[in-house]
Amino acid sequence: MSSPTSSSRSEFDLIKRYFTGLGNNQFVKLGVGDDAAITSIPAGYELVTTVDTLVADVHFFADTAPELIGYKSLAVNLSDLAAMSATPVWFTLSLAVPEIDESWLQAFSRGLTDLALQYSVALVGGDTVRGPLTITIQACGIVEQGKALLRDGAKVGDGIYITGPLGDARLALELLKGDRTIDKTYLTACCDKLHKPVARIKEGLLLKEFANAAIDISDGLVADLSHVLQRSDVGARIFLDDLPVSDAMRKSVSESESQNRSLYGGDDYELCFTVPTDKQDAMLSKMKANDCVVYRIGTIAREKGLFGVHTDGDASLLEQRGYDHFS
Ligand code: ADP
Ligand code: MG
Repeated sequence: MSSPTSSSRSEFDLIKRYFTGLGNNQFVKLGVGDDAAITSIPAGYELVTTVDTLVADVHFFADTAPELIGYKSLAVNLSDLAAMSATPVWFTLSLAVPEIDESWLQAFSRGLTDLALQYSVALVGGDTVRGPLTITIQACGIVEQGKALLRDGAKVGDGIYITGPLGDARLALELLKGDRTIDKTYLTACCDKLHKPVARIKEGLLLKEFANAAIDISDGLVADLSHVLQRSDVGARIFLDDLPVSDAMRKSVSESESQNRSLYGGDDYELCFTVPTDKQDAMLSKMKANDCVVYRIGTIAREKGLFGVHTDGDASLLEQRGYDHFS
């Protein structure tokens, strides 16, 4: 884009240096450098598209290490593709930066490259402008025709599963804000959950033949599972005492505080999916054979609403609220 806010010469040099040839994928015919990119889709597949914008001091602290910002900007998009059971193929990057800071750009590009190479996904184009630090990534994936996992397929009786403990990203945020401390043994693991979420691509692809519905958890389990329930026109019961808990969480907060963060924390990027009873054993075997861990946390029910159930049978409707409740 040519505009009074961007000086062409340095803009092109920067794009060449940091955003050309980043990652790679067989379906890219023409990447960065022309007016637009050209990609192809294999016969029998559909294109899955998602976009997420991260704004400094809204979605991340502006002084976060740029490698981590690069990594996470792509990770949150890959997580959406995972939830659709898509194989990521390419992405575009729209980057607004307040100034040209070469060392920042280099590190940002390194973080992005690190993740792009892990998943064989290629950066095919984008835009670079001057403005408040904002990163928009659009990512595309492919899926066999008609096989994408949607939010609207959950059925009464389905088991509800997640791909990992929840709430640690929230705990890390509290640490960074100085609201609490934790044993330093768990510091790295906890902060990695916030800064380097693992996109559950492998799990998402394996789920295709078993799951009725899936979503990735970005706004908190209650908020995101509720989307599935609404779209599928069903209710659910979550076994509160069976929610998986990380070591960092167990050692740092009380059981009820841990449950609170698991239900409402957000920024987790684990998958939440539902599987019919007759496919659960096969799904669990498949996951195990592929070194993937999943946790059963509840059941889809006919009665509308999302209920939290304790081991002693005590059940109550879970309050619908976002993660900002903690702040
Ligand atoms: P135009 O003015 O034709 O829109 P640009 O000057 O914005 O083109 O970009 C030139 C080339 O560099 C295009 O291929 C574009 O996709 C790519 N590009 C620009 N910014 C980025 C970026 N941040 N990441 C990746 N590619 C980029
Ligand atoms: Mg052009």
